[in-house]
Amino acid sequence: MSQVIGVRDIRKMIHSGQGVNLPAAKASRKKLSPPARKLNSKSPKSELEAFFNSPYAHSLKEQICEMGRRMWQREYVDGNGGNMAIRVGEDIAICTPTLVIKGSLQPSDLCLVDFDGNQLLGTKQRTSEISMHLQIMKKQPKAIATCHCHPPCATAFTLTGQAPPRGVLTECDLFCSVALAPYRTPGSPELGEVIAGLAGQYDTILMANHGVVTWSHNNIEEAYWRVEIIENHCRTLVAARQLGKQINPLTGPQIKELLDIKQRWGFVDARYGLKKSELCDRSK
Ligand SMILES: [Zn+2]
Repeated sequence: MSQVIGVRDIRKMIHSGQGVNLPAAKASRKKLSPPARKLNSKSPKSELEAFFNSPYAHSLKEQICEMGRRMWQREYVDGNGGNMAIRVGEDIAICTPTLVIKGSLQPSDLCLVDFDGNQLLGTKQRTSEISMHLQIMKKQPKAIATCHCHPPCATAFTLTGQAPPRGVLTECDLFCSVALAPYRTPGSPELGEVIAGLAGQYDTILMANHGVVTWSHNNIEEAYWRVEIIENHCRTLVAARQLGKQINPLTGPQIKELLDIKQRWGFVDARYGLKKSELCDRSK
């Protein structure tokens, strides 16, 4: 049976000051290591094929399928919506195909693309939304994995043109750095450009009238995890606003403490370096 991490476990990790462990992803990494020689889009096709069909690549594909099942079960995707990618070399990535329901995604459905979006391997056609994933990876060298879907409460915020407030819920402040990107056509290079412009300081980007894209410097599970956290953040805010009382924000020193932990974990945040008094200013 796979180990399940609960909110209580996460809190324990936070309070003990240690990093957050993702056992499923770590366990599979222990046994399998990436190819000794770094591959790129110009590597011989035989080497790319050997890698793409290797047990290591298969384990990454399985992780993507598992995240697809989770996002489908939580109703973060509709029809064939949602897509993911994992960087696997200098300028290549494994990504999800187009027109496949994420709840029934199989490792054999996945594709290998170069950073221009050209398909190198895989029997199904790569996602039409690959541009934003690749642009994030190009502009943000730390980005290993990216995840995109349409969770309803976070997407609802994008319809009103507002980013959810920071400095009110601890989980979101710790695990996500949230920005709202202006509307661009899904799948267009223009959307990729605006997203890439934000990926330096933000790892959880809401896209106006569309959905959410996240990235992680660790693994695809962490990128997906950010989707769950931003969606829960938005859902809780909607509930709190219905209670007819003002929301009590965290104080500057409380936010500073969270940011210190976050910085130790290597997560990005646009607020590093701000004074405690400035952290209370929700516009920063
Ligand atoms: Zn989309």
